[in-house]
Amino acid sequence: MKHNKLFLLVALLTAGSLWLYGRFLATPRPQRKPPVGTTSPDGRRVEKSDAEWRSILSNAQYDVTRERGTEWPNSSELTYEHRPGIYRCVCCHNPLFSSLTKFDSRTGWPSFYAPIVQNALYTEPDGGRTEVRCAVCDAHLGHVFNDGPDPTGLRYCMNGVALVFTQADMKRAARNEAAKK
Ligand SMILES: [Zn+2]
Repeated sequence: MKHNKLFLLVALLTAGSLWLYGRFLATPRPQRKPPVGTTSPDGRRVEKSDAEWRSILSNAQYDVTRERGTEWPNSSELTYEHRPGIYRCVCCHNPLFSSLTKFDSRTGWPSFYAPIVQNALYTEPDGGRTEVRCAVCDAHLGHVFNDGPDPTGLRYCMNGVALVFTQADMKRAARNEAAKK
């Protein structure tokens, strides 16, 4: 008899938890908005529903950029990318960082000491840390810390899965340079 009551209690608790979890999944999450006054390069803005983001991103990209996840250290090849080029937001292709400000932080995450332009991203307080987001689509990118190298002293600690790297076309750059002379 005692066991029956215990079983009933466990069954009720399980059913209740599942129901609550279902409610949680069904509740549309509010769109994240940048702080008032935030600008972006060319005033660009990309907003999509949760379902739209899910359909264009891989699970890993979605977890990090839309759910503020963190990839395992050393899991991204971009940590060891040293060719000249541009790092863009994986969600909206907003240019975020140049290889010129990339440095080896030995943390296992791609690290930069400055964004490519100041308004490419914005920051938000995140507990004791400072979160970094894409100014165009609000993607969570990583965090910024005050222990970076000169000249800024900042360390933008990024999730490689939130970035896409485009190698610079050095021949084209050289041709453009030559054409100017
Ligand atoms: Zn973006």
